[in-house]
Amino acid sequence: MLAATAITMNKVEQSKLKNINLQNLPFGKFFTDHMLEADYEDGEWKNVEIKPYQPLLLSPSLAALHYGQAIFEGIKAYKNEEGEAFIFRPHDNYERFNISAERMAMPKVPEEIFMEGMRQLVELDSAWIPQLPDHSLYIRPFMFSSDEMIGVRPSQNYKFLILLSPTGPYYNAPMRIYVEEQYVRAVPGGVGYAKAAGNYGAAMYATAQAKQKGYDQVLWTDAFEHKYVQEAGTMNVIFIIGNKAITPDLGAGTILAGVTRNSALTLLKEAGFTVEERPLSIDEIIDAYKAGHLFEVFGTGTAATISLIKELRYKDFVMTFDTDKWRTAPTIKSWLNDIREGKREDKYGWMVKV
Ligand SMILES: *Cc1c(COP(=O)(O)O)cnc(C)c1O
Repeated sequence: MLAATAITMNKVEQSKLKNINLQNLPFGKFFTDHMLEADYEDGEWKNVEIKPYQPLLLSPSLAALHYGQAIFEGIKAYKNEEGEAFIFRPHDNYERFNISAERMAMPKVPEEIFMEGMRQLVELDSAWIPQLPDHSLYIRPFMFSSDEMIGVRPSQNYKFLILLSPTGPYYNAPMRIYVEEQYVRAVPGGVGYAKAAGNYGAAMYATAQAKQKGYDQVLWTDAFEHKYVQEAGTMNVIFIIGNKAITPDLGAGTILAGVTRNSALTLLKEAGFTVEERPLSIDEIIDAYKAGHLFEVFGTGTAATISLIKELRYKDFVMTFDTDKWRTAPTIKSWLNDIREGKREDKYGWMVKV
């Protein structure tokens, strides 16, 4: 095991922060002064270093570029009203990262590097956490295979990095969603439950087609019948039907176990909803809509927190919603944001002090 002190630190001479307007931030475009980098070689993690944010020098034969052993995470840090920094449920992301690593035949990253490295990095760059409503510091841990060899096999060398990016509000407008029946995101036995880079590349074509038709995202359905819903783009999806909050279960391994999904379900229970995690078919959704019981539909994810869905299109059937009248999703969103910004009691111990 590696002691926390084994992380070496090389600081920038001058921060870039003064050149950046934290009030007007495009998502994922600006990075803080420092990053963490570590190497996996000869069966162990070494060279764990926090250093100035900088380009990597990589061989064109880099295995990750050819065969795609690459995984990532998305986490957020916030400041409370006293200016103290907290990270939202980082341990859940740490565990999920190693689940993704295992599925992609990559080595696990030890807690001392992922958790303590992230904590030290966020502490060092904490001036970059915007202390503004709906703003945060997005944390991007990732790992890729780094063998310089184009033989098809799990790599022997890997790189693990953490980047930090200050962010403002994301996806504000309620979304129009196209129920996808041709392309698929995930199949049982596949990698849908892993936060693997290739899942994103594989989804882009279908998403672009939906955009051409005027939609913001697709609602993925199961690969066999295109009947059971999975996720809305890169967000988990929750349906409020009557007094129930229903979301697809994780059983088939086709759904990414979102930390925001889990948090929203916890808060929905607190709000008095019966939460059901189970297969949910498009027929059941349409029947509920026709009967007037489908009250709200929303996506959950770290980047956007909660995104309202104002239109769902399945074949020629269009379901529309007046999101201005909704109470549930906006309440859950504001509870979540208030917990993150230290304005609501953190009953579940989600906020971890940096
Ligand atoms: C990251 C991700 C989510 C959301 O997970 P969170 O932990 O809530 O950010 C949902 N679906 C997919 C496919 C994802 O990659």
